Amino acid sequence: MRAPAQDGGPPLLRVEGVRKHFALTKGILLTRTLGHIKAVDDVSFEIRAGETLGLVGESGCGKTTTSRIILNLEEPTEGRVLLDGEPIHGLKGRALNAYRAKVQAVFQDPWSSLNPRMKVGRTIAESLIVNASGDRAWGNRARIDERVRELLLQVGLRPEQAQQYPHEFSGGQRQRVALAAALASRPKLIVLDEPVSALDVSIRAQMMNLLKDIQAQDDVAYLLVAHDLATVRYMADHTVVMYLGKIIEQAPTAALFEDVRHPYTKALFSAVLVAWPGRQKEEIELKGEVPSPLNPPSGCRFHTRCPWVMPRCSQREPALREVSPGHFVACHLFDNA
Ligand code: SF4
Repeated sequence: MRAPAQDGGPPLLRVEGVRKHFALTKGILLTRTLGHIKAVDDVSFEIRAGETLGLVGESGCGKTTTSRIILNLEEPTEGRVLLDGEPIHGLKGRALNAYRAKVQAVFQDPWSSLNPRMKVGRTIAESLIVNASGDRAWGNRARIDERVRELLLQVGLRPEQAQQYPHEFSGGQRQRVALAAALASRPKLIVLDEPVSALDVSIRAQMMNLLKDIQAQDDVAYLLVAHDLATVRYMADHTVVMYLGKIIEQAPTAALFEDVRHPYTKALFSAVLVAWPGRQKEEIELKGEVPSPLNPPSGCRFHTRCPWVMPRCSQREPALREVSPGHFVACHLFDNA
């Protein structure tokens, strides 16, 4: 399945037909393969410089595995990922370090990326040095201190806070520190994995506005992995919806929120209180659990839970079709679209 083209210049990141299947093994030496968990199954999309792509779906849909493949923490079983036209898997040594400098991550829990025994200024400085890829300028202490000050100011903290430890910050401030560390290497892409979901509602808007301001200044692209649709609606230019390892709907965010097409996306949207001016919210109850990715349902993977299921749904897998400009849906209801 080809990556649906989006408007604009050449993509910064291109994900092409990526699959990730994990072998499920048994026995003392784990040599007996019982099957394969199809965590990601033929996923394609693109992200352009300065753009945010939202990746949404229930837990187990494959969005975390997809982001780990993009961060080069997992090798795909099939397919490839390209940054600026260059494949990212198989990189080693300096080339891999250079990739890590260009593609950074901010996670839901900033504690996971901050050392509690290290002053935050040093954490940011270490990120700067580790990702410097041999740039000798970062051997200069005064330059490092100056850049740490700049980064703290950029994320809305005071330069003197470099001398504080993580526990002296609030949750929102710690997330700002994690963002400063991610920005240290001037990345082209940041994977934001649920970046505001652990924050108080009042702080979320500040963090989202900060992320947008930084994007406008630095032209950095974001891959926003989130389950909160309000965050995706506010932040993302394009949205990709995944179900059981597959992309089932993909569109410019405004078009998606204006006209949801896929039954699963409709159910996702109806399950949350999304401010949706001028539209009647369709109540669709999602019945049952997400099936096992070890043995996904035949045909359309959503057919065991879909209120509109038809005989052909369990027999044939629906292709991702363009149903309106830039809006792609994988559902047999649109076979004649
Ligand atoms: Fe429902 Fe069939 Fe569409 Fe799948 S293909 S979402 S089962 S109508």
